[in-house]
Amino acid sequence: MKKISREYINFDLKEGWPTREGLFYECLICRTALSTNKDSFCKCYNLVVDASAGRIGAKEEDKVRLFSISCK
Ligand SMILES: [Zn+2]
Repeated sequence: MKKISREYINFDLKEGWPTREGLFYECLICRTALSTNKDSFCKCYNLVVDASAGRIGAKEEDKVRLFSISCK
């Protein structure tokens, strides 16, 4: 059986929010994980993904983590 694990990635907001296939953002307040290629927002509305515009936003940017999924 494959095990899916999260690999957390450091990113610098000065260079923008990374958006590409296979990347997810996790809101640390409500623990919701959002894909970067789908319009959505987390349960507490801290984190918003506007995939069609290629934009990610958060009210509290230090409460957001970026990760990719890998199967081992
Ligand atoms: Zn949230």
